[in-house]
Amino acid sequence: MKVDWLIVGAGFTGAVLAERIASQLGQKVLVVDRRNHIGGNAYDFYDEHGVLVHKYGPHIFHTNSCKVWDYLSQFTEWRPYYHRVLASVEGKLVPVPFNLNSLYALFPPKYAERLEEKLIRTYGFGVKVPILKMKETDDVEMRFLADYIYRNIFYGYTLKQWGLKPEELDPSVTGRVPVYISRDDRYFQDTYQAMPKHGYTVMFQRILAHKNIKVLLNTDYREIAGEVYFNRMIYTGPIDEFFGFTKGSLPYRSLRFEFLHLSEEWHQNVGTLNYPNEYDFTRITEFKRLSGQVCPGTTLVVEYPEAYDPVVNEPYYPVPREENQSLYRLYKELAQKELEGRVIFAGRLGDYRYYNMDQAVARALTIFSEIGGR
Ligand code: FAD
Ligand code: UDP
Repeated sequence: MKVDWLIVGAGFTGAVLAERIASQLGQKVLVVDRRNHIGGNAYDFYDEHGVLVHKYGPHIFHTNSCKVWDYLSQFTEWRPYYHRVLASVEGKLVPVPFNLNSLYALFPPKYAERLEEKLIRTYGFGVKVPILKMKETDDVEMRFLADYIYRNIFYGYTLKQWGLKPEELDPSVTGRVPVYISRDDRYFQDTYQAMPKHGYTVMFQRILAHKNIKVLLNTDYREIAGEVYFNRMIYTGPIDEFFGFTKGSLPYRSLRFEFLHLSEEWHQNVGTLNYPNEYDFTRITEFKRLSGQVCPGTTLVVEYPEAYDPVVNEPYYPVPREENQSLYRLYKELAQKELEGRVIFAGRLGDYRYYNMDQAVARALTIFSEIGGR
């Protein structure tokens, strides 16, 4: 078999690049994935009860990029959806990211009012303050609040999720969920927030439905690399694995997903409930909240963080911290030296970057423009 491009991975990065190269450059692409489905970690399917579920945990689409939105809109209609999350703190359910409503849910009204006034005076209304930044304050009252939020929202959750304390990770990790001086209870404030109307897998089927694209599932690229002739390669798997771990293993964090089906129509009031302080799991998501599906019963997914072990689970999260970035850079240098640009590394695992879906798409579109597309 002869193709112009071999693309390893049928997730957002691989699928978008395949589509662009096939449709805009008219070149032939073979996409291989070792899983038995397309869509990468965004893959969804109907479970045995007929509920649309996400195999690898809840995926909520949000972006500020008009370019990414317009691109994906060619392949899906959308269902507007604002994700909301409540965290269990001291027996109460409070909005996360922590905001002014969370303040009133946790403290007596007079005291909440005082803290609200001070928060607005210190930071300004509508401002987002990363918790590690907030903890740097010299003001005694603000420091009390920052410590309270740190202890009750971030510390336990982060320890479970990463096996590390918040300050042992790049500040951008906890910075994803900053304290929000606002009454806006949505998890994201992006311009575009929606779910693909018929699910992610249908969207991926449409992205990959081009005569110049062939998809081979259940296949590690190493099984076919000797039999397929290709000019160039795009690799969206783990970069350390590509090089046989010669510089050492990059750390990843994994998860175990437990799916539960209940005969009740709804189980919780919001898409996700977070449990920073109790249990071994971090959060529970109810899929029907995300999809708007109307059907009997409801399916939930419970996320249990785990150490990554290549034999038993999957590398879901790169672990953002400086020492890991240094190791990643060694692999990046190796790629430049040994492969001279013949293999393009991209995606959450290929770039070793904590990308959201829209960032993976944006990165793919940028690569496409670099390889001669527009
Ligand atoms: P992937 O989706 O990981 O695709 C890589 C593919 O490469 C995989 O299918 C893999 O099987 C394949 N592969 C790897 N090595 C090989 C090999 N040797 N041979 C063949 N195939 C190979 N983003 C959001 O925007 N919103 C969310 O709400 C959100 N929630 C998330 C929840 C969880 C639990 C996780 C883990 C991620 C979440 N994300 C979310 C992030 C999102 O999953 C990623 O941004 C996106 O999937 C990245 O796409 P990708 O193509 O880079 O990688
Ligand atoms: N986080 C936390 N408590 C929460 C929510 C998030 O400590 O209630 C921290 C935690 O470290 C988490 C990070 O913020 O890993 C990013 O959260 P996000 O919801 O963006 O994680 P993802 O959806 O990518 O798993």
